[in-house]
Amino acid sequence: MKQYDYLIAGAGVFGAIFAHEMSKRGKKCLVIDRRGHTGGNTYCKNIEGINVHIYGAHIFHTNDERIWNYVNSLTAFNRYTNSPLAMYKGKLYNLPFNMNTFQQLWGVITPEEAKRKIEEQISEVAIKKPGNLEEQALSLVGTDIYNYFIKEYTEKQWGRKATELPPEIIRRIPIRFTYDNNYFNDKYQGIPIGGYNRLTDALLKNVEVKLGIDYITNRSVLNELAEKIIYTGTLDELFDFRLGNLEYRSLRFDHQLKETPNYQGNAVINYTEKNIPFTRIIEHKHFEFGQQKHTVITKEYPLEYSPQNGAEPYYPINDHKNDLMHSRYRNLALDTGNLILGGRLADFKYYDMHQVIASALKAVQKEVESL
Ligand code: UDP
Repeated sequence: MKQYDYLIAGAGVFGAIFAHEMSKRGKKCLVIDRRGHTGGNTYCKNIEGINVHIYGAHIFHTNDERIWNYVNSLTAFNRYTNSPLAMYKGKLYNLPFNMNTFQQLWGVITPEEAKRKIEEQISEVAIKKPGNLEEQALSLVGTDIYNYFIKEYTEKQWGRKATELPPEIIRRIPIRFTYDNNYFNDKYQGIPIGGYNRLTDALLKNVEVKLGIDYITNRSVLNELAEKIIYTGTLDELFDFRLGNLEYRSLRFDHQLKETPNYQGNAVINYTEKNIPFTRIIEHKHFEFGQQKHTVITKEYPLEYSPQNGAEPYYPINDHKNDLMHSRYRNLALDTGNLILGGRLADFKYYDMHQVIASALKAVQKEVESL
């Protein structure tokens, strides 16, 4: 008999849900994380009373009532609705692409006029089966929207030509012919009242957690502690990069405290042109309708990732080469028997939080059935 049933490497959303659910079922869990805090990239640092999303803004949204009820049973959510703006050559436009955007761009008033304009542009480029992000975008929204809002933003965000990126990335963004600036189509949306750490704390309330412990460098000792290991980190690192390096895109965050109550009037403004080196400015207080006398903003600068340069692996680059390498690594992991993988890093998927939660609950169910 080992000391723990489960050792969970990674205190992010996947690890915290798994630990919470298995502890509820009487299993002994130990959660470790190499960072000095829990919550993974949802972790917020309180700066002068403002919850600052120090690893990038997280906005919870889902269509799944079960997931929405699940998170709300842990902590209450507010009614924040994401309505980002795009700045292009000194002018602001509404996002996602909707009647407000079309009106600002072309002066059109009716949905019929807007549709005609877009369809004209789509038929000019005449793309049958989009094979990359550029073709996907052009065939969905036409040339103007692509050139103002997508091409340059995407190329600086990913550090690659839009023609070399997978089309799926852009399918996240809705296009609609109503005057509706809600960025998400999902039924439910919000931010935990009091910040994301409330959600993580509720999940880990009755779970043993040890911080500042790196699974990779201590694995021979740690593996002896538990019957099964839940691993939520990158798979190339887990296997000492023996099949090659998986590619990710990273970001550098420049957080600034400003002595003004309202810096930009919105939580998110994207800077879509290429000669501005950051992709967006986040003003964190607006996620929680903060009334402080000051504010905190964050500029996001895209950054190349390498396991050695100290950057964090935020976005998986899901092209064919990487997906193939990842599935080879996964087969190695499956051979290991007592290992369960999950989360954005280990699954190498561009997951949103609600998708991570769904996959963690599925992993729990599978584990429970196997017992
Ligand atoms: N995107 C874009 N222009 C924008 C916002 C997004 O071209 O103003 C593209 C870009 O390729 C980006 C993708 O859409 O990587 C997904 O954007 P989203 O804001 O959903 O991504 P996040 O970084 O928040 O995960």
